[in-house]
Amino acid sequence: MANKAEAVSLRKGLSEVVEVILDHDSFVLLEHQKPDGDCVGSGLALVQALRSLGKQALLVSDDPHPAVYDFLPGRRFHTRAGYLKPEDFHPQVAIFLDCTDPERAGRGLEFAAGKVWVNIDHHVSNRSFGAVNLVDPTAAATGELVYDVINELGIPIDKDIATCLYVAILTDTGGFRYQNTTKETHLLAAELLERGVNGSEIFDCVFETRTVSSIMLLSKVLSTLKLYRGGKIASVTLTQEMMRASGASSEETEGIIGYPRSIAGVEVSLFFKESDEPGKVHVSFRSRSLVDVAAVAQSLGGGGHPRAAGALIDGTIEEVTEKVMSYLDKLDVWTDF
Ligand code: AMP
Ligand code: MN
Ligand code: MN
Repeated sequence: MANKAEAVSLRKGLSEVVEVILDHDSFVLLEHQKPDGDCVGSGLALVQALRSLGKQALLVSDDPHPAVYDFLPGRRFHTRAGYLKPEDFHPQVAIFLDCTDPERAGRGLEFAAGKVWVNIDHHVSNRSFGAVNLVDPTAAATGELVYDVINELGIPIDKDIATCLYVAILTDTGGFRYQNTTKETHLLAAELLERGVNGSEIFDCVFETRTVSSIMLLSKVLSTLKLYRGGKIASVTLTQEMMRASGASSEETEGIIGYPRSIAGVEVSLFFKESDEPGKVHVSFRSRSLVDVAAVAQSLGGGGHPRAAGALIDGTIEEVTEKVMSYLDKLDVWTDF
């Protein structure tokens, strides 16, 4: 087998992760809350790979998988934390995927108590909380790291596994458009295409298939557009009332932040989403080229990447907007461009 890992030096932590997997028989794979394409794709790829080795493995998420990923193979090995009792499932190892810290797994964390923790992630803000940690912020997606793990285990990457990994990478790079997309990302995508992945069909399923309710919601959210700092900051807002009126589900808000982000001259874009948890607002941050929004989100209790981050903040939309804007006001970058 062409082994990409042999050509370059092994990523730090890779051999330890592989050793833990080889030494154990049963695994729970945990995704972060409100799972995105990266953790869904990484999880479905790894659960199928572990099963192909004859291991017992189950992928568990607190929230449901967004319906847009229903076409992915391996769903029979996935369940939600609320559907299974921790006392009925005793894996030896818990593998956290795409989680900056263990709490990101939400109720999935109940299945990790007393197990060996494996941490596979690409967030700069990752807390290295595992017994073994494969954390590489230069990876565009956790899916890239899962590819290395599967490859290093010597498991053949069939079309099903390749499709899941392709979705992980496709979604976290915004369709190979964000700055995290490197030559290595494209080389890996090419390798996955070689395994039979249908790139155009997947792109159509993931990015070009919308529900009527999501378009209705989009029109409401876009009507809230506000600009600050002479057009360098743009924000949009979503209330629970808009969700009810449009009939959209929370996963259908994915991608909306791309609109304020795309406005000429905007450096930072913000998406304030009233949470279904009362008294909390989820804020998505995006920046074009200068502002480290991971640092901003982290100081407000969240995390993420330099160009894409998020945080769940206490307060009403007005209070949270005020909190975020006054924090951004203090940054000394606004005169630089
Ligand atoms: P989002 O805008 O919610 O799609 O999130 C953008 C990025 O920020 C993703 O990489 C998330 O993993 C990260 N992120 C979002 N919410 C949080 C949070 N509450 N804590 C830590 N990281 C987060
Ligand atoms: Mn993620
Ligand atoms: Mn990710």
